[in-house]
Amino acid sequence: MRTDTGHVFKLEDYRPSDYLIPRTSLDFRLSPDATHVTALLTIERREGVAPTAPLVLDGDALTLLGVAIDGHALAAGDYEATPDRLTILKPPAAQCFELRLETEIAPSRNEALMGLYRSNNVYCTQCEAEGFRRITYFLDRPDILSVYTVRVEAPHNEAPLLLSNGNPVERGALANGRHYAVWHDPFPKPSYLFALVAGALGKVAGSFTTMSGREVELGIYVEPGKERLAGYAMDALKRSMKWDEDAFGREYDLDVFNIVAVSDFNMGAMENKGLNVFNDKYVLADEETATDADFANIEAIIAHEYFHNWTGNRITCRDWFQLCLKEGLTVYRDHEFSADQRSRAVKRIAEVRTLRAHQFPEDQGPLAHPVRPRRYREINNFYTATVYEKGSEVVRMIRTILGPELFRAGMDLYFERHDGQAATIEDFLKVFEDVSGRDLAQFALWYHQAGTPNLTVSSTHNAAAREFILEIEQSVPPTPAESRKRLMHIPLAFGFVGADGKPVTWAAVEGATVDDGVIHIRKRRHTVRFSGVSERPSVSLNRGFSAPITLSVQQKADDQFFLAAHDSDPFSRWQAFNTLLTDALIAAFRQILDGKEPVFAARLAELAGRVACDEALEPAYRALALALPGESDIARDIGKGIDPDAIFAAREALARIIAETNRDAFSALYDSLADNGPFSPDAASAGRRALRNILLDYLSLLPEGAALAARSVILVAALAVLAHRHSGTAEAEQALAAFEARYRGDALVLDKWFQIQAGVPGAQTVDKVRALMQHPAFSIANPNRVRSLIGTFSSANQTGFHRPDGEGYRLFAETVLEVEKRNPQVAARLATALRSWRSLEPGRQAKAKQALLDMAKVENLSADLRDIVERTLA
Ligand code: ZN
Repeated sequence: MRTDTGHVFKLEDYRPSDYLIPRTSLDFRLSPDATHVTALLTIERREGVAPTAPLVLDGDALTLLGVAIDGHALAAGDYEATPDRLTILKPPAAQCFELRLETEIAPSRNEALMGLYRSNNVYCTQCEAEGFRRITYFLDRPDILSVYTVRVEAPHNEAPLLLSNGNPVERGALANGRHYAVWHDPFPKPSYLFALVAGALGKVAGSFTTMSGREVELGIYVEPGKERLAGYAMDALKRSMKWDEDAFGREYDLDVFNIVAVSDFNMGAMENKGLNVFNDKYVLADEETATDADFANIEAIIAHEYFHNWTGNRITCRDWFQLCLKEGLTVYRDHEFSADQRSRAVKRIAEVRTLRAHQFPEDQGPLAHPVRPRRYREINNFYTATVYEKGSEVVRMIRTILGPELFRAGMDLYFERHDGQAATIEDFLKVFEDVSGRDLAQFALWYHQAGTPNLTVSSTHNAAAREFILEIEQSVPPTPAESRKRLMHIPLAFGFVGADGKPVTWAAVEGATVDDGVIHIRKRRHTVRFSGVSERPSVSLNRGFSAPITLSVQQKADDQFFLAAHDSDPFSRWQAFNTLLTDALIAAFRQILDGKEPVFAARLAELAGRVACDEALEPAYRALALALPGESDIARDIGKGIDPDAIFAAREALARIIAETNRDAFSALYDSLADNGPFSPDAASAGRRALRNILLDYLSLLPEGAALAARSVILVAALAVLAHRHSGTAEAEQALAAFEARYRGDALVLDKWFQIQAGVPGAQTVDKVRALMQHPAFSIANPNRVRSLIGTFSSANQTGFHRPDGEGYRLFAETVLEVEKRNPQVAARLATALRSWRSLEPGRQAKAKQALLDMAKVENLSADLRDIVERTLA
């Protein structure tokens, strides 16, 4: 474990390294406790660098067994080796030489799951961001591109399958039941994209013919016996390969593309060149045990990692500050893919919900950072919603500003100009400036400045002058280390809707650049005058969520109701309804704090009924509209003095009124949605199931509800409804016990069982979680188990986690520290659940702070956890 050194890495300190490594040959002799690694590195001194410059290589917990240059072992005084650094004090005078390194590592003892480790007896690697240095000493930075040849040797019975990056070149049998394979990757790549997998795995084979007619062999490797669960992933892979050709003109470049599913993985998946490694949760699915969200995630993540082949691998990042260059762009690409494969409107709403749920609180709290940060202590902690999700929104805004043709031209130029390079955000922006002739300097602040901009908007209509005026003011709240903000360029898509529901047009506009339905906000204040507008329209703002901002609009509830029924932009229509719900919930929250019964306008519940039954809307859309803002969404919009119990009560009260008002309509609709045909994971069928599930959730609040849920066929969804809405009842207990008995041997399915129980609202869940940690299927060393139980409890159970006596925080801090001993990266991510502690009411706030302080006072904390805890407290 790397303990914290306090060192801060700064963007302005970047400089190219003195040495390059054009070629890398690796030889692995695999063994669980003593894997022998021989690295043969071609080292080249960069032009202009003095021959006396020492060569300093990165390591992490390494043991050096031997070092030689050009075939001669080095004498003790020629180098210095520590676990985390190898310094060659006097490299040869020749510009190019060969460095041979031998190291020994113990994959079976690697619980951090970085570098080479064992998962279920399978050897696998994870090198992003800085895991390669746990395998051998190297210039472990993304701007060192090298051509790799990898030889892997192991006993055949332990590891019949030997995989690495690139194309297979050779394999053969050796004495003593051993065998080997050699792989060669012709594309120069940074070390973080290196991968090796070896073990006994089952294979699902496929093939894809590229746009130029090349045949690519596809393989998905899974635990033997689980092959039938990988069919959907294979289908998603083929669709991804086709889509990247159609949408971006990008063709795959190797003869093989392999995916391996492993059961111990820190993140979702990893885009290693030609050999993606996946958390098995994002590969394995079948109709019985996977939810529709699981299928959608598998499709999106398979696509995401595949798309990295061009945005990440062919063009990589110069340094880790540029992480969003590959991640934001690739998320944008996978979002577009899913929108094309499914429903664009539904996808957009889901994206915005995710952005608000994860990125907004990050941007509005102590961990806020720009999409391209300038500082970090531990890069692992920057795989964030800001880098990924907001990074994607920034790319989307470039497309909005330039239009689809120029955007595509810019992307084409990017691929052409930077193929084979390690690039920067400046390079990326420059291609769009070059193809469009525009200056994107102000726009670039989206990469450089943290915080969620806010627009305050008010409107007036002057009937006599036939003029409609929008007053728009922008502000960007201060964030850590950035107290003063500069003015941003915000592309605000909008529309005017007339009383007849039709668009209202105007004759001329002044006060801002307005084109193609977008107002370009660039100054602090704009008074935008639309002339030739005879009736006062309803204003639909930030259509399609054109910018990742918050809006403060002085808009009457009547206008919101009108837009919720008539806005032609599906996103904004959803937004109008969601705003009404949020406003009602916040008002109810305040009434509850004042000791009153919350009251809701009858027309709100009636509107919910009309939306549910509107056959002109797709079922998936209706399901999203009916989903009440989550407890943490409401908390975020309230901002401070949060009492999660009062929020919960407000939400329950509204749900109950919606259910009671629409009881007959909801149950008729619920029955009509029964799925009798064969299962299909497609978006339309999933949408019907989603609508059915949300109706069930409402109906379960009525007296007959528990029985209805107990009878439901959609297992996981119904179990969640029962356990959450009727916790402790005989029906709920029986259903949970039956589920456990049925899926006892299936870890991924039992994760849902852990998750459902960790999410049961109320004070008693802390004890339940404690008890479940002793369950035989739970393991503190497995990230999926930890996230299902502890992650769900701390980030998706507001009333349980924030129990007023602080017991939830105590369990949490204890567990984070326990996880940290093995896996600092997973522990640090868990710890971010406390990032909004300052918005809690004073009693809970003090207890949450104490939990953070308890973690901070532990000695020898990992760099990962110390960084999160200290920034959260700062
Ligand atoms: Zn990615």
